[in-house]
Amino acid sequence: MKAPLFDFVTAENLHQVFELLEQYGDDARLLAGGQTLLATLNMRLSEPSVVIDISSLAPLKGIRLEDGWLRIGALVTHTEIEESPLVARHAPLLRLAAPHIAHRAIRNRGTWGGSLAFADPAAEWPACVLALDAQIVIAARSGVRRVPASEFFRSLYSTALGPGEVLVSADVPVRREDSVCAFEELARRHGDYAIVGLAGCARWDGARLADVRLAYLGVGTTPLRVPRTEALFEGRFPDAAVLAAADRELRLELAGHLEPIADLTNSAAMKRQLAAVLLRRVVEQLAALPGETP
Ligand SMILES: Cc1cc2nc3c(=O)[nH]c(=O)nc-3n(C[C@H](O)[C@H](O)[C@H](O)COP(=O)(O)OP(=O)(O)OC[C@H]3O[C@@H](n4cnc5c(N)ncnc54)[C@H](O)[C@@H]3O)c2cc1C
Repeated sequence: MKAPLFDFVTAENLHQVFELLEQYGDDARLLAGGQTLLATLNMRLSEPSVVIDISSLAPLKGIRLEDGWLRIGALVTHTEIEESPLVARHAPLLRLAAPHIAHRAIRNRGTWGGSLAFADPAAEWPACVLALDAQIVIAARSGVRRVPASEFFRSLYSTALGPGEVLVSADVPVRREDSVCAFEELARRHGDYAIVGLAGCARWDGARLADVRLAYLGVGTTPLRVPRTEALFEGRFPDAAVLAAADRELRLELAGHLEPIADLTNSAAMKRQLAAVLLRRVVEQLAALPGETP
């Protein structure tokens, strides 16, 4: 199929974007890397009157350190994150996750902000920002606001972004020396969207884990943390007994509250099983000493 007819504007600044969003409302779409939007236009899942190309807006670009945060601009591509020395040093979880996103050609064009704004529950970045406790920076004509990742993803493909708003960056707390992270996912083929994935972060407090944050992708309508399972690791070394208890708790937690969504080829029961496999793999990596994660 071909896309419907629409007007196309190459935005020169954010002010112009806000004006157009105000003028066209829900009939406008922002174009960043186009890796999702163009497919939805071609399949006529989206029929806007105007497409606003934001890809040359300087305030949405670049990766830099700012007051203890790593600021990653919305237009930073998946490849730029994968190859950034700043990301490798200060937010290594993102470097671990990046190669799992699609294929190189898509990673070269697809953007950090586009992925977060689109909020596909099987995408890698939403789970990572949740695990990292990042803040999403949103701008509108009225000003800028920061939304914690835990409040940004609302439901399937739905976020805290309101009418007239643009995602400017997502800011990640700079990694502490005593922190560890791990990322694992299961997909049928490398480059496919994950069936299930897990981003994990923690800190070492002596020989014990602290501040454990586990965020799943592919098991719900949004990226999901599993607080009851996380709590079992708090203040403990993740030995075989702790891992076995966490495995039991995870299955209960997913069954009772989160209810993994089945997709065309994977039942909820299979997703729960894969989630448990990933829990063990990720926690075993977190159990490595700080500094051993890349
Ligand atoms: C074959 C294929 C496989 C893929 N596999 C994966 C995968 O395994 N994992 C994964 O995570 N992704 C995958 N993707 C999606 C890819 O990562 C996209 O790049 C990403 O989802 C959207 O980023 P984009 O820059 O291309 O956004 P666009 O397509 O330009 O925009 C997507 C949506 O976000 C909105 N938007 C974009 N930027 C902003 C902004 N700054 N503020 C507010 N709204 C904005 C747009 O209006 C649009 O509605 C795949 C895509 C394809 C085509």
